[in-house]
Amino acid sequence: MKPSEGGFAAVSVAAWPVINCYVTMESRKEEREYSGIGASPGIAHGPVSILREKEIAIPKYQVEIEHHHAEVARFENALLSTRKQIQKIRDQVEGSLGEEEARIFDAHLMVLEDQALIDEIVREMQAAEENVEASLWRVGTRYIEAFGQIDDEYLRERASDIRDVMRRLISNLTGESLDDGERPDNKHVVVAQEIAPSDSASIDKDHVLALVTDLGGKTGHTVIVARSMNIPAVVGLGNISQSVVPGDIVLVDGYEGKVVVNPSEDTLFRYGKLKDERASIEERLFAFSKKVSETQDGHPIQLQANIESAEESVKAVEIGADGVGLFRTEYLFLNTRSLPTEDEQFEAYRGAAEAMGGRPVVIRTLDLGGDKMSLSPELGMQHEFNPFLGYRAIRYCLDNIDIFTTQLRAILRASVHGNVRIMYPMISGFEELKQANECLEIAKEQLRSEEIAFDESIETGSMIEIPSAAIACDTLVSECSFFSIGSNDLIQYLMAVDRLNDRVAHLYEPTHPAVIRMLDMVVKNAREGNVEVSICGEMAGDPILVPLLIGLGIESLSMSPSLLPHAKFVVQSMELSEARDLAKMALSETDGIKILENLTAFYNSRMESIS
Ligand code: PEP
Ligand code: MG
Repeated sequence: MKPSEGGFAAVSVAAWPVINCYVTMESRKEEREYSGIGASPGIAHGPVSILREKEIAIPKYQVEIEHHHAEVARFENALLSTRKQIQKIRDQVEGSLGEEEARIFDAHLMVLEDQALIDEIVREMQAAEENVEASLWRVGTRYIEAFGQIDDEYLRERASDIRDVMRRLISNLTGESLDDGERPDNKHVVVAQEIAPSDSASIDKDHVLALVTDLGGKTGHTVIVARSMNIPAVVGLGNISQSVVPGDIVLVDGYEGKVVVNPSEDTLFRYGKLKDERASIEERLFAFSKKVSETQDGHPIQLQANIESAEESVKAVEIGADGVGLFRTEYLFLNTRSLPTEDEQFEAYRGAAEAMGGRPVVIRTLDLGGDKMSLSPELGMQHEFNPFLGYRAIRYCLDNIDIFTTQLRAILRASVHGNVRIMYPMISGFEELKQANECLEIAKEQLRSEEIAFDESIETGSMIEIPSAAIACDTLVSECSFFSIGSNDLIQYLMAVDRLNDRVAHLYEPTHPAVIRMLDMVVKNAREGNVEVSICGEMAGDPILVPLLIGLGIESLSMSPSLLPHAKFVVQSMELSEARDLAKMALSETDGIKILENLTAFYNSRMESIS
């Protein structure tokens, strides 16, 4: 919402709470069902507590140019106070939830230290000859809107970091409190448009049964906090916060992303049963994660983890991962105030290598650009009309050799601490792969001359995520020892379907015959060229698709760690010949939907034994 041209503009900011409702159901209300994104698993129901946005006013008035130094001083004081408050919340969260959750607030501190943003606010204030609150809100809104439009889900959600910081700054400037201090004291389901990080940090585990929000995606703060507290959450529900009223009872199904307002006795009974069933399935699936990953007839399948930080590799080991199939290193570059140094990167890579204790760790070089824009001005990312077809990943690295070499040196240094492999993203063909390897040779040469140890026989791999690389993958085998299929991008480029665009989402079809033929072709060429082949896109973690991938000959699948137990169960419940039959069916069938139906039927038949 933008401030009006004069006087005061009402701006909504989230604040606790607000309308507390207790179970006072005098008359039966009509049941309504909503669908969103299941963000944190579990089923819960209880009275609603609506977290309404508190409106605060943004003053707007003229400030003569000679008084601007006083405005700048006010701004600096507000920056300082806000910093202190956020640091305090960070410390509290670290104490109650742990370091990982507390790191959410580092992004807030980064916003406060973002010199480009601060300078823009001061410039705007001087140009418009107005007070700091007005300029601050206008510039902040521009940033929020820009972030809100980025295709990458993770970055889109950073808009809420900026918003949260902006509202604190405004509050510190105007003296208007953001918190009216009330807290519901019964057990309840929180329903809100969006839950700001500093609000989610103050959620009381003992009272909150579930979280439900209008906005947000799978990597939002609501989700991070809900998962770490083990409470169900459903996000992206449109405008549910406007539809519930005090007195409503809300049932939340975090598995399926469903919310039922005022559930009938029948619905409550049905979900009660479902809850028990789910809990026992999960318990049983978890038991499989400790077992060896092989088919019923003893054929080993590598089930590996996709991670974004060294810490996640510890969790991956706990859940029984056979290695790390994809370390998305770009998150090291997104979460810092400046470029990570070689030593900082080395520590992260070494951490993962050591945690995996000899199991393979595939470190993917920087896949920045395109949808993954960076907050670091040093990276020089610019707006592009077709970011997915633009300056990203290996294209960026081959054009920014210093950044690339620093990363390669850090990975090489970490290679003596475990079983490290290097993988290049977005390779389009032989020349690019060759150039990337030439850079690697230069980095190796530098380390040799500095007498720094590294694994001389470190293996390199190419992601196969651009159709040109898939079609000509036979030309790549001489330059690498493994392929990893990036099905997320491969499908998007093959089918010409933006993987993040809801309106064409129905065309994003992993079981489309063209996708299956392309996977088959890559596997055959990899075999012929004697290179290993694995898959690390979302397809790999979909338990319905796991048998198909194995049947096609992909024997190493890398996925989000939480999906591993389910995938392992599916692997253990089938024979290799069954997977091969499914692959044959998929390669001969013309209809992608039919293929999916057949795969689903097979999956359901295996799940019968556990449900
Ligand atoms: C992919 O494209 O499948 C992949 C794993 O890479 P990312 O999702 O990081 O683009
Ligand atoms: Mg990709």
